[in-house]
Amino acid sequence: AKEPVRVLVTGAAGQIGYALVPMIARGVMLGPDQPVILHMLDIPPAAEALNGVKMELVDAAFPLLKGVVATTDVVEACTGVGVAVMVGGFPRKEGMERKDVMSKNVSIYKAQASALEKHAAANCKVLVVANPANTNALILKEFAPSIPEKNVTCLTRLDHNRALGQISERLNVQVSDVKNVIIWGNHSSTQYPDVNHATVKTSSGEKPVRELVADDGWLNGEFITTVQQRGAAIIKARKLSSALSAASSACDHIRDWVLGTPAGTWVSMGVYSDGSYGVPAGLIYSFPVTCKNGEWTIVQGLGIDEFSRKKLDSTAEELSEEKALAYSCLT
Ligand code: NDP
Repeated sequence: AKEPVRVLVTGAAGQIGYALVPMIARGVMLGPDQPVILHMLDIPPAAEALNGVKMELVDAAFPLLKGVVATTDVVEACTGVGVAVMVGGFPRKEGMERKDVMSKNVSIYKAQASALEKHAAANCKVLVVANPANTNALILKEFAPSIPEKNVTCLTRLDHNRALGQISERLNVQVSDVKNVIIWGNHSSTQYPDVNHATVKTSSGEKPVRELVADDGWLNGEFITTVQQRGAAIIKARKLSSALSAASSACDHIRDWVLGTPAGTWVSMGVYSDGSYGVPAGLIYSFPVTCKNGEWTIVQGLGIDEFSRKKLDSTAEELSEEKALAYSCLT
């Protein structure tokens, strides 16, 4: 039998955490033959709720779940973890300045970075979900210099999956037959959902999405804004932000990273930029990636038209500004 992997979830008493921990305990994230020990961290005001989640995990009697640590102590939470999913963050409240929210998150991610660097398992893989996800991940990377930069990522898989979902609804095809959309850039409303290389499996082979949709007006307009603003649409409908889809896509992100992407398929991940596609190096930016043997690689050589170029650049610009704002909070 495999040794259990310790999986950290921060903000585990929150909405996404509540949807995510049972998925991990069922093997959705690391596979149906991989035992897990869940490490759940939250802040003291949420400690009682967190303990309630632990009770439910015990009551669910998950065969793969070999232990549960529920704690408000960041060192205890980080000790020995091989996967860390960072969902906890300071939410933007009404009337708060961007800089104030950034400053709160910078201090949270700085502290958690140090704890992970000192106490996590070697080669721990980190996924940041909490917003501003790209910049929180960048801060985490900066303050955990001994964690390889390739191991620190942020979630744009939800946006990627939303794009697949929109194409599947529009064409009335199975979502599993649509592939190779791309989310470029920031997990924010400046992200660029790109279908220029996306295809659909049909009875007569793979066909480009652009050819099948045959409506560039929709693809360059409403499709993009629907994906960019889907989070807000869900808040309006549910009076709560998306949680099950966020949790599910976090599992997709880690599963594909650890177990590999299928041949001929790429996914979107926020990763440390090396300058590919003219994106400034040193940002956490969402790119198309393939994964093999636990490592991601940016897909190279895709054509970028003029429309796309502008969108790649403007989301990069927003990330550079966020980075500057984050650094200005570090003093
Ligand atoms: P959620 O579980 O709904 O969301 C958690 C984080 O994920 C938020 O930052 C949220 O951003 C972000 N997020 C990223 N992508 C998405 C998406 N597509 N849909 C929804 N959210 C997304 O928040 P809760 O308030 O329910 O739970 C947060 C938990 O974190 C609480 O238990 C709280 O106690 C804990 N916490 C921990 C802190 C710490 O570790 N020091 C500090 C503060 C809170 P957005 O806010 O933009 O929706």
